[in-house]
Amino acid sequence: MTLMRAARLHAIGEPMTIDAIEVPKPRPTDVLVRVKACGIVPNMANVINNWPTWFPHQPLPQFPAIFGLDVAGVVEEVGEAVIATKPGTRVYVSPLRSCGSCYSCRGGQHSLCRYFTHNGYFSTSPDGQKIFDLYPYGGFAEYMTAPQHSLVTLPDNISFEQAGRFGYIGTAYGALRMADAGPGKVSLIDGITGTLGVASTMLSLAMGVSKVLGTGRNEVLPECVKSLAPNRIEVLKLGDKSSGEWAKTLTDGEGVDFVISALGAKAAPETMLDSMQGVRRGGKIVNVGGVADVVPVDMKWLMDEQVQLIGSNWFSTAQGQELAHMVETGALDLSYLEHERFSLDDVNRAISGLQDRRGGFSNYVVIP
Ligand SMILES: [Zn+2]
Repeated sequence: MTLMRAARLHAIGEPMTIDAIEVPKPRPTDVLVRVKACGIVPNMANVINNWPTWFPHQPLPQFPAIFGLDVAGVVEEVGEAVIATKPGTRVYVSPLRSCGSCYSCRGGQHSLCRYFTHNGYFSTSPDGQKIFDLYPYGGFAEYMTAPQHSLVTLPDNISFEQAGRFGYIGTAYGALRMADAGPGKVSLIDGITGTLGVASTMLSLAMGVSKVLGTGRNEVLPECVKSLAPNRIEVLKLGDKSSGEWAKTLTDGEGVDFVISALGAKAAPETMLDSMQGVRRGGKIVNVGGVADVVPVDMKWLMDEQVQLIGSNWFSTAQGQELAHMVETGALDLSYLEHERFSLDDVNRAISGLQDRRGGFSNYVVIP
């Protein structure tokens, strides 16, 4: 029996402990990945401290649980039915888990599966516990198992630390694809300084979006985002004026082609509603943020202006591979990420320290 070190949560609100457990064997269509970096998402502290109270119908993995959402590493071993993936391959492991056999899964739309679960995080489905039982290993451990279809192959110019951010970059990419982002378009990114906001900005630029408008509540960070491409980015500090009117003014009264709502959980519904008013007739609003309160939407306006309001929760593995290609060719530059590295022993400090981060620029990673 070979042992590995894993940070495990034994009870909500308690610190994780480093335990020695058995290295898992991959099932026939799974692989075993040696974890090289695991990104910590800003919401992780909420999940391990408050989730069962806030969202009682969204299960967590069974305790003692190994969390850790965004894993980059090297394939160590493959199951007997894995043909195309070889040991030694550098990979990002998408944590999206689904049943694999329902109508949506058979169509490749895994995020529409009723068993939709984030490995190492939480499930949005009451049925998600079955998935956690099949994949109980998150990224805060030396090894994890993963289905072969969850792997994004990494080119040499993507570091493990950068790939440990692929979850949020990919989520931003999925939202931009839903919004039909592309050349000639103007976007409004609500919450432009956050993890999803900065990623949405960099991706918009890479995808040819002409102009990126963005709002943020921080004093300094909006200007840091603008400095990434001063002639294509305009920023507004939330509270200075109406974001919707501001967006209309900057587009000659027309409105933006799409809004990406990437606000945090505590943002007021009014903030989101204001920016929604900045979209043009026929435009799209894609919500990928965490506004937790109920947002009262003017449905007649939605109809009159033929505006589409769309929810987006993750991205496909294929889209993750597209991201990797964009970095490989230089179209997408991830050098804006400022890595904060922590050992597995420091995982508790890493999770609780995220409140000090520099918005979407900071990248907190655990290196097991
Ligand atoms: Zn399914």
